[in-house]
Amino acid sequence: MSDVIESTNFIEEIINQEIESGKVKEVITRFPPEPNGYLHVGHAKSLCINFGIKEKYHGKCNLRFDDTNPTKEDIEYVRSIEEDIKWLGFEWDKELYASDYFDQMYEYAVQLIKDGKAYVCDMTAEEISATRGDLTHPGVESPDRNRSVEENLALFEEMRSGAVADGAKTLRAKIDMASPNINMRDPVIYRVLHAAHWHTGDKWCIYPMYDFAHPIEDGIEGITHSICTLEFEDHRPLYDWVKEACGFDPAPRQIEFARLNLTRTIMSKRYLKKLVEMGVVDGWDDPRMPTLSGMRMRGYPAEALKDFCARIGVAKANSEVDVAMLEHCVRENLNANARRAMVVRNPVRLVVDNAEDKVFTVANNPMKPEEGTREVLFGRELYIDAADFSDNPPPKYFRLKPDGMVRLMGAYIVKYVSHGEENGELTVHVEAIPDSAEGGANAGIKVKGTIHWVNAKTCVPVTIREYDYLLDDINDGRDFDLRLVPNSKTVVEGAKAEAAFATAAPFTHYQFVRMGYYMVAKDSTPEHLVVNQVVGLKDSFAKGK
Ligand code: ATP
Ligand code: MG
Repeated sequence: MSDVIESTNFIEEIINQEIESGKVKEVITRFPPEPNGYLHVGHAKSLCINFGIKEKYHGKCNLRFDDTNPTKEDIEYVRSIEEDIKWLGFEWDKELYASDYFDQMYEYAVQLIKDGKAYVCDMTAEEISATRGDLTHPGVESPDRNRSVEENLALFEEMRSGAVADGAKTLRAKIDMASPNINMRDPVIYRVLHAAHWHTGDKWCIYPMYDFAHPIEDGIEGITHSICTLEFEDHRPLYDWVKEACGFDPAPRQIEFARLNLTRTIMSKRYLKKLVEMGVVDGWDDPRMPTLSGMRMRGYPAEALKDFCARIGVAKANSEVDVAMLEHCVRENLNANARRAMVVRNPVRLVVDNAEDKVFTVANNPMKPEEGTREVLFGRELYIDAADFSDNPPPKYFRLKPDGMVRLMGAYIVKYVSHGEENGELTVHVEAIPDSAEGGANAGIKVKGTIHWVNAKTCVPVTIREYDYLLDDINDGRDFDLRLVPNSKTVVEGAKAEAAFATAAPFTHYQFVRMGYYMVAKDSTPEHLVVNQVVGLKDSFAKGK
């Protein structure tokens, strides 16, 4: 069939087949976050899959807040999740809350009771788990398993009315205590919990369990493909049981994929929340956080994240991706898109004894001529980086050294004259070689090093925030709090940027030449310029490795 789109992963292969066979007309997916924290880079993978399918098949994708757990959820998280999805450039069709279906879920539960498919059980959570059996032993049936429909209806109503204490009774699906799949051994589908819900307030004191709620949510919304991570594979028989017991037709289909794991990266809202609470980071959007909002503050472009998700692909086997691959995608994006600027991190005075003021024109981004050019003013007093001068150079040191020559980027070749303290400041004197700028008669003189510089008179101070990973690189099963890298944030004061940088606006990306990629921080002002280091220049991710 001509309108079947060529498959690129196993999920799309399934969808193609279903479209071809006529089983599915319009593809509808959903992204179902629990609003109990900020989204992280793992969620980006799920977002790219669900919204990617919507876009590819011209279908729909709902944003559904899976807020069936009243004690951990909050409106702050709802708002942040909306913002992060928009930032990635995805548009959801409907915005929905699982808690809006509590009435319907309750009705489905009543129907199951009437159909003899659910019963109220008086066992405690401990008793239920002790009688569940294991892989080699069947479970033990609850003494309440054969209660009459009338009794079950009355008891369930009692649970709903508030007369039952937390945990004293549950509603269980009546499936099979001897099932080889332990999830099918009469799972709890409703619990009593006297807790206010951020969205429904005090209306309910019974709450549906995930395995019961999720297929109903999918069914009500007409989701065709309910895509989730691999740990739900063993729950699929229960998902199918609920959807059949509730009579959803056409039925949604659950498909599992491998979750994203990244080296040196915490990928769980629960632990990320701990970092915030422990004060290890300055908040959920701290630039060190692997949250989408943290990455946005750090300066990771949304497009780079999407590119990363496309490259890792969708598979059915869990694995760990090297965080260097994510950084590679960020670097590649910024190399193509970021403006260039000269910034000296650790300034040393350079006096060009024979220099006169001269304006040079340089490209804003040599990769993108359409970004235009800017002017840099060359003069007698400059700054270069301390690392670019050595009076005791190691072998193969191609920067400035006694009796050496270097090219000052975009300007002249200079020749060492002398160095020493002047007014308590290390000062290096050089002489510019006449006509050695680009196009000049002496431009062809061979020098091995090119270093960057700023004009001491016109440069502007900039504060640089540099970041390390939050976790060390030894993943030997230690708890994350034992793997925390001390001092993962460094604030460098005293760096100097070329004059044109004075007007740099927050959220603009730069390559500081020979240094790395930076983004002007959200809180940067013209009076106090601040940048976040995004990623270094050096790529540790070898292609094709
Ligand atoms: P966490 O353990 O961090 O809270 P979660 O899976 O409980 O993660 P949800 O809010 O339930 O978080 O997730 C919303 C969607 O994102 C789910 O469909 C889930 O499968 C998916 N998801 C979460 N983490 C990852 C990950 N690391 N890789 C891919 N998808 C993920
Ligand atoms: Mg969760």
